[in-house]
Amino acid sequence: MENGLVTAAEEKTVKALGFLRNKGTNNFSARIITVNGKVTAEQIACLSEAAKLFGNGVVTLTTRQTFECQGVPFDKIEDFRAYIAKAGLETGGTGSKVRPVVSCKGTTCQYGLIDTFAVSQEIHERFYEGYRQVRLPHKFKIAVGGCPNNCVKPDLNDLGVIGQCVPEFDEDSCNGCKKCSVEASCPIGAAKLKDGMLEIDWDKCNNCGHCVGKCHFDAVTEKTRGYKIYIGGRWGKSTMTGRPLSKIFSEKEEVMLTIEKALLLFREQGKTGERFSQTIERLGFDYIEKELLEGDIMSRKQEILDAELHLTGGATC
Ligand code: SF4
Ligand code: SF4
Ligand code: SF4
Repeated sequence: MENGLVTAAEEKTVKALGFLRNKGTNNFSARIITVNGKVTAEQIACLSEAAKLFGNGVVTLTTRQTFECQGVPFDKIEDFRAYIAKAGLETGGTGSKVRPVVSCKGTTCQYGLIDTFAVSQEIHERFYEGYRQVRLPHKFKIAVGGCPNNCVKPDLNDLGVIGQCVPEFDEDSCNGCKKCSVEASCPIGAAKLKDGMLEIDWDKCNNCGHCVGKCHFDAVTEKTRGYKIYIGGRWGKSTMTGRPLSKIFSEKEEVMLTIEKALLLFREQGKTGERFSQTIERLGFDYIEKELLEGDIMSRKQEILDAELHLTGGATC
């Protein structure tokens, strides 16, 4: 502190711990990480107590499913951290690193095609916690959605995972009913009767799976259950919708591998200060996709992690 004020250097140090200065004061908002927005009743109780003991009693929610306790004085930051640690909570979620992972409630939602809590928890453990010390060119946001309804907007993240159910249509089993229950079940008009028989517009179909099992003659069944991965999305002062990789991934481990390859590629080939969308634009989507689907970047993993890269940090708001 200098002249009773927190210095810029001190502010930078605590920002790295997840404490964001409340403007014009020596107080900070403590950003508390959740795993995909889930907290236990005990953790909520601890957070409530901490907000009263160290902050101004107000807790807010962030767009990325973390909590913020406002009004924590600079000299109480360590006490605050120690207090919430008793309930297994920690602060963080800032800097040019993997940010807290966001997920929809696909595990319990009636439309969920994948176990979003399990997927996002694994991503949290392997790439939020596991890559905690790994500096990237900029922040890297990951979101997991259970179906193409896109509630958590995975395609507006640096990398987004969306659950998929790819239908299979057996034309020979279609009897050309007067009223087609498959057509009726398709929310986006991709399945339609044409000349009395069902047709599916595969370019339009988003693999929501609503039509699977709706035909009494089993003309539409489930072909593949899996994951689509979008890369290069972002929102904020510059918005970009991510592009999907051409493959539907059927195994969770393939998704994890692709995320790790994307992080390594971004660290190795991204320029400090650029978001993943800009790296993709500069190097070309086709090149990045090929690297993610077929490249051997994992063989350089340790070399990339050991390299002195992005030491100045590139994350801005
Ligand atoms: S994206 Fe799909 S699974 Fe997730 S909450 Fe929305 S409707 Fe449910
Ligand atoms: S897909 Fe099934 S419900 Fe639709 S017209 Fe063909 S047989 Fe009838
Ligand atoms: S999977 Fe969804 S979008 Fe595709 S045809 Fe079936 S209902 Fe329509």
